Amino acid sequence: MSAKIIDGKAIASQFREKMKEELKQLKSQEIIPGLAVIIIGEDPASVSYVKAKIRACEEVGIYSRCIRLSGDTTEQELLQHIDKLNQDVQIHGILVQLPLPLHISEKAVIDAISPEKDVDGFHPMSVGNMLIGDECFLPCTPHGIVKMIQHTGTELAGKNVVVVGRSNIVGKPVSMLLLQENATVTICHSKTQNLAEHTKKADILVVAVGKAGVIGPEHVSEGTIVIDVGVNRNAEGKLVGDVRFDELLSIASHITPVPGGVGPMTITMLLYNTIESAKKHLPSVVV
Ligand code: NDP
Repeated sequence: MSAKIIDGKAIASQFREKMKEELKQLKSQEIIPGLAVIIIGEDPASVSYVKAKIRACEEVGIYSRCIRLSGDTTEQELLQHIDKLNQDVQIHGILVQLPLPLHISEKAVIDAISPEKDVDGFHPMSVGNMLIGDECFLPCTPHGIVKMIQHTGTELAGKNVVVVGRSNIVGKPVSMLLLQENATVTICHSKTQNLAEHTKKADILVVAVGKAGVIGPEHVSEGTIVIDVGVNRNAEGKLVGDVRFDELLSIASHITPVPGGVGPMTITMLLYNTIESAKKHLPSVVV
């Protein structure tokens, strides 16, 4: 058996084609969704993520504004930029690229973004609403993962899903979204004992650890769907995931590649949230 590759780029492209149509409709009603991205400093990975987000906006027709701030920007200055964007009617989504320099509090920054423009879905209000299943912006990577699993035609209800990693941006929220889809979810982390005992029970395995090759054939049962969220550089400087992709090809039923798997879907869900935010500004129909 050879695993089917879950082509994140191709799935993202299908979503983006639909978005282009929707954006044309919105434009005819004089609504142009706008995304502001703030980046502080010159971290190469962050710079390349921001470029990819801006490019994706341009590709589908979302207005984007990139605010580049120097690494010595104070927290107060950053909060002032956010405050202005919160008031700016051209902007429907605000994203501050993480990680931040150590002198700036990530919590203060996330809390400062208006929940109405929190297209990353990191604000405590968004997280709370997600947890209770209320309307909110879903966090982009977890939302993209759910869409990718559904794209394989797999019914999530009743499946054993094992998530490795419990961060606030991937592991925990993806576990909650999968639970809402009626999967039976097990969350593993660095203190989990006998990891393979858990992961081998998975129908679907989501790995968000950030360590190259941490998951291999010894962790995976025949026919498992494997979603690799990790983005790491190996000794040759090549981008690789958390999963030993080649070694799982003969075991998994479906598997995501790195790059070209979860990454493109993360950006696509950011575009989706920005459009949804703008749609809230549509004039209401008077009957
Ligand atoms: P964090 O470092 O915040 O979390 C890593 C998690 O992995 C922690 O919960 C940690 O456990 C757990 N962990 C670490 N070592 C092990 C181990 N040996 N066995 C089991 N669990 C372990 O990372 P993120 O969640 O932010 O990101 C994870 C990866 O996903 C990174 O490579 C990141 O670059 C990538 N990423 C990719 C995105 C994309 O769009 N493609 C988006 C976001 C992230 P503990 O809590 O106990 O410390």
